[in-house]
Amino acid sequence: WVSISYQPDIQKGKVKGCFALTQDISAHKAADQLKDEFVSVVSHELRTPLTSIHGSLKLLTTGKLGHLAPQGQELLEIALNNTERLTRLINDVLDLERIESGLIKMIKVRCRVADLLEQAAHAMGSMAQAHGVTVNIVPVEADIYADPDHIEQTLTNLLSNAIKFSLQGQTVLLEAVDQPHQILFKVIDHGRGIPEDKLETIFERFQQVDASDTRKHGGTGLGLAICREIVQHHHGRIWVKSIHGQGSTFCFTLPKSSREDPSP
Ligand code: ADP
Repeated sequence: WVSISYQPDIQKGKVKGCFALTQDISAHKAADQLKDEFVSVVSHELRTPLTSIHGSLKLLTTGKLGHLAPQGQELLEIALNNTERLTRLINDVLDLERIESGLIKMIKVRCRVADLLEQAAHAMGSMAQAHGVTVNIVPVEADIYADPDHIEQTLTNLLSNAIKFSLQGQTVLLEAVDQPHQILFKVIDHGRGIPEDKLETIFERFQQVDASDTRKHGGTGLGLAICREIVQHHHGRIWVKSIHGQGSTFCFTLPKSSREDPSP
């Protein structure tokens, strides 16, 4: 990394001097690369044995190989739940790492905004039902150039949080607003809300309002960091407004850029 600055001689209109500042950043780059490789290898090495453990536990819970005592069955269910949690965590770490490092490219195609909302709400239907929460959609008739799978991932992450932190009987709203140069997406819930001092930090990896959230609600603490990466790769913005105890509104924007947009 080199920075050069010229010192002009104002009176004669000539350059009088020149400063050069150099900094070797290859050590930083090498450390970053090492970290990325480490995360990737560890995640892959963990995923394969975990898939096998999960498969075996799942088979045991079916009772096809013989029935266990109730206490044994209960322990099996706990082990199965924890392997599923670990799998989610590894998948999220891998996802975040791949998006951050640019290994996953956003493939932008023309999408109907209403379809994106409907697909996300449909994907979260059974979770909403299990929590006794209703998801309503306020769609908009507009198209956008975006990567539909990744935008759906963003919407389902936000929806799953909204459902998780709502009370039974409450409603979650999934809304899109057509603005001059962008589409504004909103996921609104009336659940427990987020304290003001946490509004910025929850987009950082492994940041939770309550340290027990991961365990209690089965999250990984990476969902919002993934959403932020995806939105930023679309040149959009993501933020949250919330009143603690009254609910939260997660918003993100996506620019209405054209297919010819040369940005990645
Ligand atoms: P997690 O997998 O834990 O849900 P996220 O990154 O998606 O990870 O969210 C981080 C934390 O932000 C959550 O654990 C929770 O504390 C808080 N949070 C996110 N969405 C909401 C919401 N709609 N209402 C209240 N708290 C929320």
